[in-house]
Amino acid sequence: MPRMIAVLLCTTIAANVLPAAQAQELNLYSSRHYDTDERLYSDFTELTGITINRIEGNADELIARMDAEGENSPADVFLTVDTVRLARAAGLGLLQPIRSDVLESSIPAYLQDDKNRWFAFSQRARILFYDRDDVKNPPMTYQDLASTEYAGMICIRSSTNVYTQNITAALVAHLGQDAVTDWATAVVGNFARDPQGGDTDQLRGIASGECDIAMSNTYYYARALRKGDSTMTQEDLAGIGWVFPNQNDTGAHMNISGGGVAAHAPNRENAITFLEYLASPQAQNYFSSGNDEYPAVPGVGLAPSVAALGIFRPDTISLADIANNVDAAVDVLNAAGWE
Ligand code: FE
Repeated sequence: MPRMIAVLLCTTIAANVLPAAQAQELNLYSSRHYDTDERLYSDFTELTGITINRIEGNADELIARMDAEGENSPADVFLTVDTVRLARAAGLGLLQPIRSDVLESSIPAYLQDDKNRWFAFSQRARILFYDRDDVKNPPMTYQDLASTEYAGMICIRSSTNVYTQNITAALVAHLGQDAVTDWATAVVGNFARDPQGGDTDQLRGIASGECDIAMSNTYYYARALRKGDSTMTQEDLAGIGWVFPNQNDTGAHMNISGGGVAAHAPNRENAITFLEYLASPQAQNYFSSGNDEYPAVPGVGLAPSVAALGIFRPDTISLADIANNVDAAVDVLNAAGWE
């Protein structure tokens, strides 16, 4: 009996001397804009007992907020969409390099920051969609979009959009800035309308007849097929064909969702545990089944909605190469007059 009391006493003292930073919680700054992510977070809490306090918002606002909070920032993990934004956060010193054998062994090297400040956890292919009735000879490469054959046919997002910047940066890495400036100038000449809207709006442009060819991430189309869309019927969707571009050379361009540990994370260990969880088969599966994305970890199965798009060759350019060419990409887009 006395021994039991002693144990209880020790437990109480230990709990009292734990600094606040070691409470089992995690402050997650996230700009992933998918309401289906809820289960991703609740499963983590169930598995680890670590509570997630979620601060959600626009990525640029979250970056500005972390920057303004400085050393006092409560942020533990920054989770966002696209290499462009992760590189921007890392460039501002808002993310810290971490060592994790789990992340190193599960996430391919090309899907990690070269300084281990951020990691990709899911991928999406940015591919070409076209009107099956009107386009008998769809573009098979990104380069084909520059062909005069497609004059007045292309709908695509604005130059301020990170997906546009990301693919342009990858093209610069592959082809060089001069060649891509020529390409972008010709693509602008083929626009069906001024760049506008999100990815789904590009697909809607095909359905409405305003566009013949559009660029979109795969998950928007897979999701519309799976769940329906407010403005596109299943018949509209069936009338849209797709091409995974550049299958004979570089492969289809991929963009990513990813995250890293905040520079001043008060719950650093929990933050690493969370990132390792995101690389687990359970979470990787969820990116595919919950949001129609491709897992970053090789060998994880695809949700039926994603598998239905077909097998393809992805571009495996290193994300560090993309990050290093974002400034050049912005210059290219400006020089091309891409709105
Ligand atoms: Fe998106």
